[in-house]
Amino acid sequence: MRRHRNVKIVATLGPASATYDMIRALHEAGADVFRLNMSHGDHEGIREKHRIIRQVEKDLDSPICILADLQGPKLRVGVFANGEEELEPGAAFRLDLDKAEGDAQRVCLPHPEIFAALKPGASLLVNDGKIRLTVTDCGKDHANCEVVVGGTISNRKGVNVPDVELPLAALSDKDRKDLEFVCQLGVDWLALSFVQRPQDVNEARDLADGRAAILSKIEKPSAVTRFNAILAASDGIMVARGDLGVELPVQNVPPIQKRLVRACRAAAKPVIVATQMLESMIESPVPTRAEVSDVATAIYEGADAIMLSAESAAGSYPVEAVTTMDNVAREVENDPTYTQIIEASRIAARTTVADGIVAAAREIAETTDIKAICCFTQSGTTALLTARERPRVPIIAMTSQRGTARRLALSWGVNCVMTPELERFKQAVIIAARAARTQGYATTLDQIVVTAGVPFNVPGTTNILRVAPCQESLIYATDPS
Ligand code: PGA
Ligand code: MN
Repeated sequence: MRRHRNVKIVATLGPASATYDMIRALHEAGADVFRLNMSHGDHEGIREKHRIIRQVEKDLDSPICILADLQGPKLRVGVFANGEEELEPGAAFRLDLDKAEGDAQRVCLPHPEIFAALKPGASLLVNDGKIRLTVTDCGKDHANCEVVVGGTISNRKGVNVPDVELPLAALSDKDRKDLEFVCQLGVDWLALSFVQRPQDVNEARDLADGRAAILSKIEKPSAVTRFNAILAASDGIMVARGDLGVELPVQNVPPIQKRLVRACRAAAKPVIVATQMLESMIESPVPTRAEVSDVATAIYEGADAIMLSAESAAGSYPVEAVTTMDNVAREVENDPTYTQIIEASRIAARTTVADGIVAAAREIAETTDIKAICCFTQSGTTALLTARERPRVPIIAMTSQRGTARRLALSWGVNCVMTPELERFKQAVIIAARAARTQGYATTLDQIVVTAGVPFNVPGTTNILRVAPCQESLIYATDPS
């Protein structure tokens, strides 16, 4: 489906967006990627949403990307006899391994590894950081805490432990089961929550075994510290501002967002900016000015994708939220300042033939009247390198691999078109010109740039660039091959 913007939109599916009509409406409004959140819902619900997405993809003949988000090692307290308790500042509160129901003095935290790693003075944050506890003393089965910031604590609320590198396996038993389930269903990306080390990413990659690309969610201070190594091990990144803003002071999040977005572009790997982008639209059909500004900022910075969470999963206005993002994106991308910012931060990392070809394609497109850059790509790498150049003309990724087309839907500016298996370059040029015409990027009077690797079907061989006319008879007349 042709979009009039380069940044991509990720919409999380949930109870508010579980029907065929709604999922189709979200895609038509602009959602390029659907996120299945494995923290909520059972496998049957996930299977059904997956089936509907693939049906919409078929009905609209437009590749759709599915991202399955694994819950990761999320810590939760147990349950309370009264369902909830009020914690007052200055009060003592104990966390322990006792499975008995909690009260105003204590509750179970069923994670022995945490007690082994805690030290006096460490902070524990409960319920999205609303409640803050400080450990006064601790042992192998308990931690006595002082309530620093009080509030209501209730059954199974999440706990963040920012000061401690958690000695937890990157993937829980549930994550492993979920991973296998979604890989068998067929998803394009796996998102890993609470990644702490590059080994966490490698572990998931081994289990996925090529069935999905791996995206690391940066939401722990330790992941920020080790970001470069985690990026090197990952195929993509999410700036997971929700948990990141709990684990670190909130004012640290914007500079981290800027740094991560730039680093991902330099590495030619897609980056999603996520969480609370249009939070008020969960209940309101219009966003706040500050939210619009936040969405715009992420786009000006050059993020590949912006994400909706509860806005599309559980809110009252999922389609309006997608439309709002689409409107903001079009406006920002039409602003000359946007082009200036994006071009000023272009990366001069050119070491391979493919790097040289994508840079040349961009320069030719900027020098003369070219309507699109069509790149033939099997693995998707050439499309990612072309996107890194942030050209002013549309990128059309031509691939015979459905998985590649779907995965690339997350990347800035990449429009995917499926092709048959090709043998000759002339055939590729004809198909590219046809795609540019039928998708509305060019007419028979226009020219396009075509890049490819010859021989075809050998990944990593991009070695050819052709400026081609869009009229078929002219291609035959002028093509030397
Ligand atoms: P979540 O991740 O929505 O799965 O918590 C995103 C975030 O923490 O920002
Ligand atoms: Mn999170």
